[in-house]
Amino acid sequence: MIGSLNEQQQAAVTLPEGHALVLAGAGSGKTRVLTTRMAWLIQTSQVSPFGLLAVTFTNKSAREMLTRLSSLLPINTRGMWVGTFHGLCNRLLRAHHRDAGLPQTFQILDSADQLSAIKRLIKAAGIDDDKYPPRDVQRFINGSKEQGLRPEQVDAWDAHRRGLISIYEQYQAQCEREGVVDFAELLLRAYELLSRNAPIREHYQRRFQHILIDEFQDTNDLQYRWLKLLAGGGASLFAVGDDDQSIYAFRGANVGNMAAFERDYAKGNVIRLEQNYRSHGHILDSANALIAHNAARLGKNLWTEEGEGEPVRVCEQGTDLLEAQWVVDEIKSLVNDGHTRSDIAVLYRSNAQSRVIEHALFSSGLPYKVYGGLRFFERQEVKHALAYLRLITNPNDDTSWLRVVNFPARGIGARTLEQLGDAARAAGSSLYGAVDSLSGKSGLKLQAFAELLAQLTEQAHYLPLPEIIEHVVHHSGLRDFYMGEKEGEDRLENLQELVNAAAVFVGEEGMVGEPALSQAARETVDPLDMAGPPTMSPLDSFLSHASLEAGDNQARAGEDAIQLMTVHAAKGLEFDSVFMTGLEEGLFPHENSLTEQGGLEEERRLMYVAMTRARKRLYLTLAQSRMLHGQTRYAMRSRFLEEIPDAHLKWLTPKVSTMGAAMGSGMGSSWSGSGYRRGDAYNRPSTGAMSPREPRLATSGVRVGEKQFRIGQGVHHAKFGDGTIIGLSGMGNDAQAQIQFRDVGTKTLALGVAKLDIV
Ligand code: ATP
Ligand code: MG
Repeated sequence: MIGSLNEQQQAAVTLPEGHALVLAGAGSGKTRVLTTRMAWLIQTSQVSPFGLLAVTFTNKSAREMLTRLSSLLPINTRGMWVGTFHGLCNRLLRAHHRDAGLPQTFQILDSADQLSAIKRLIKAAGIDDDKYPPRDVQRFINGSKEQGLRPEQVDAWDAHRRGLISIYEQYQAQCEREGVVDFAELLLRAYELLSRNAPIREHYQRRFQHILIDEFQDTNDLQYRWLKLLAGGGASLFAVGDDDQSIYAFRGANVGNMAAFERDYAKGNVIRLEQNYRSHGHILDSANALIAHNAARLGKNLWTEEGEGEPVRVCEQGTDLLEAQWVVDEIKSLVNDGHTRSDIAVLYRSNAQSRVIEHALFSSGLPYKVYGGLRFFERQEVKHALAYLRLITNPNDDTSWLRVVNFPARGIGARTLEQLGDAARAAGSSLYGAVDSLSGKSGLKLQAFAELLAQLTEQAHYLPLPEIIEHVVHHSGLRDFYMGEKEGEDRLENLQELVNAAAVFVGEEGMVGEPALSQAARETVDPLDMAGPPTMSPLDSFLSHASLEAGDNQARAGEDAIQLMTVHAAKGLEFDSVFMTGLEEGLFPHENSLTEQGGLEEERRLMYVAMTRARKRLYLTLAQSRMLHGQTRYAMRSRFLEEIPDAHLKWLTPKVSTMGAAMGSGMGSSWSGSGYRRGDAYNRPSTGAMSPREPRLATSGVRVGEKQFRIGQGVHHAKFGDGTIIGLSGMGNDAQAQIQFRDVGTKTLALGVAKLDIV
């Protein structure tokens, strides 16, 4: 089992009891060490499979870990506590829902559901949504929860904040009434459950003797506190992570937890792994060179025994469409050469980029699978079906109620719903609970809907899960509705896919953090569990899964497909070939990051994560212009391309300078000395490697009044001083420029309004 590991890896796997931190770069085998340690602990009888708890970053990696574990050991991994923080907390809360103050069938709100619940609340309470934009409220609520704070614990230093706190309070009440919890609530509730309920806490503290955490650099404060609490009875904490891959600060992750962990727990018990087993030389060296531009690092060195391998290929195209087409053509030739499709990944910084790539793949007939993004479970038709299913298990879920009470149309109008809302508020009940208080025609229609739900619920008792879904899709009227719709075919297919997903889920169920075993199974495999008989029906488990799942189910099960995802979603994964697309200033690094403290370094870590996903082939691609959010944007080549030594790069299209010489002064050392000439973008020579269909970008600029603005141009602003245009978007009155000013950083200005001189 450990024979194939190197010395440091073996040392980490076989550490005696006690806390430890493995701090090591990408591809050095951290995840492998963690999994092997679990197997080793079990094999050497130091712990039973049920005395282990392992936290992974995605459900996909939890599944992979369990598969790997069963390949190392002849054990049944069902029922083991391996999953994401959210998955594990969900499991804990299901098992102890009464102590946690939740209904047995509580439903999970994903972020979109949460936002609509907040909007509904703001509207019903007559709150000014200019003053309290729902998104800001959402961020405030989640941020507070992630710090472990309930409304009464949040500091109220001014009137506006008091307003936010009051909305938070009302939102909590609404969630309680409806029996729903959001993502952050899963964690906070589970934390509170353990901290307030001594018998439960002590039970789990005794039970989990070894707690292992992957991707530790991206834990937030509450997660860390949850772990400390669980480990409070003497468990050994084993954390693995890489500070260079900390990419979730925007969601409250705190890389400082690594230092805190080293100080409070590991105490010098820090193991470093330095050999990279994933990437070939050019790829690894490029990634190392890039990340060396970050100042705040714990510092690591990685080397590989693999040879240099192929250089990193760079390709610049005229437009995003051509970029996507080029990527697809290259993928086709890889596939023709016998490469496995699922070993090829296309990555992007922002979800908005995926549409063009998906389209090109779709047109070429290559099967593909998108992770994250508009997740399968977030599609309109799937959400409608899920809403019916949720109402079956919990008719008080107002979000779901409002989603489908009149979908398909049943003549229940906004006025009726307003009356119903008033009645529910007066009675302190859910909408469902207030149905009987409405009379007349509208009352009858509402009763008919409640009756429909009752029938669906009744049937659900008898049917297996996939059939429940089929039944619901049919009897709710969704099927007829989409059959009559112009583009309903896709939607019907997705609904069928939901049935398939349920069938697959029933097959796998219980693998990842779901306590859905039969009682007999539980008694045999999990004698330590104090949760008693299973508390979740297959339908409930499936609904949790739909809320927590990162959308892995999109491709037909088992299909060999090209993998599409954001860089964030690619964390921890690896592929033979990786295409990192959209390497343009403003996109990657993302424009928002340039004005935030530490933003650029986080973007660079993100780029490091992207590059280190590749085993054998890495492609970096970019487009001179792209349509984003309905506007054509022109941008310069990403600075990240300049931070990789030329020796590792192979330009497939001529490397043409796109940056003005003025950049050197304002943008830090990585920009200077590159010898760029201003205006090169403007006079871009023709690049023969490009397709003849490509629109030339000889006028890659924007005209406003008398002036012609171009990328790379030097400008002067009365207040901000001298700067260089690094991005342009829009036309005429809407035209905007992103300008890197020498003294005040990057600003986006409306060209029609800003008083700019061309210098
Ligand atoms: P990341 O930081 O990206 O999560 P990681 O440090 O977790 O990376 P792993 O995913 O565990 O790295 O390992 C990277 C690859 O190297 C995997 O394919 C793994 O199986 C392989 N590997 C790790 N250690 C060894 C070894 N000693 N011998 C052969 N292959 C190894
Ligand atoms: Mg890993």
